[in-house]
Amino acid sequence: MKKLIFMGPPGAGKGTQAETIKEKFKIPQISTGEILREAVKNSTPMGLEAKKFMDAGDLVPDVVVIGIIKDRLAEPDCSKGFILDGFPRTVEQAEALGKILRETKMDLDAVVNLAVPDQELVNRLLSRAKIEGRADDNEETIKNRLKNYNDKTFPLIDYYRKEGILKEVNGVGSMEEITMEILSVLG
Ligand code: ADP
Repeated sequence: MKKLIFMGPPGAGKGTQAETIKEKFKIPQISTGEILREAVKNSTPMGLEAKKFMDAGDLVPDVVVIGIIKDRLAEPDCSKGFILDGFPRTVEQAEALGKILRETKMDLDAVVNLAVPDQELVNRLLSRAKIEGRADDNEETIKNRLKNYNDKTFPLIDYYRKEGILKEVNGVGSMEEITMEILSVLG
């Protein structure tokens, strides 16, 4: 059973690594960022609401992302495992997740934290901006996303360390090296 969270600052590579690991374990990857971008693209009411936060590099309100995760985890393909990529990002989201998992009698196996220094993150995000053209990959928004990460998401490292399921991985290195390290901490 693999019920996993991938955590890390914007640009740490959690989405990319989650892609590889999900293939390996044959479990769905649930990316709140992807789900939100899809909603924005389709101009759904949720997308219209989320867009202003995303464009500014702010977190979308907890109630919105918690709703997304609650619905998604209720899908049958999640019963064998999942990778949450980009959720939770606040203590409130982590507590809501804990409640959802208790109600559905699911337990988290591990929280993988990918650590990357700030300057490296800014460089990666700026070069990704050129390649993918994501609306929120510009210098000002990047600074705000990093600030939000440091203020709101960073405390979750300690939160999950206290729960005894935190696995720390160095996010600097080649894609393959990092995948190997993740696989080794997951045992
Ligand atoms: P990154 O990790 O590079 O910031 P994501 O694709 O994970 O990229 O997220 C993009 C944006 O989507 C975030 O800046 C935020 O506005 C929104 N978002 C994604 N996940 C969450 C979440 N769990 N809570 C609040 N906002 C979120």
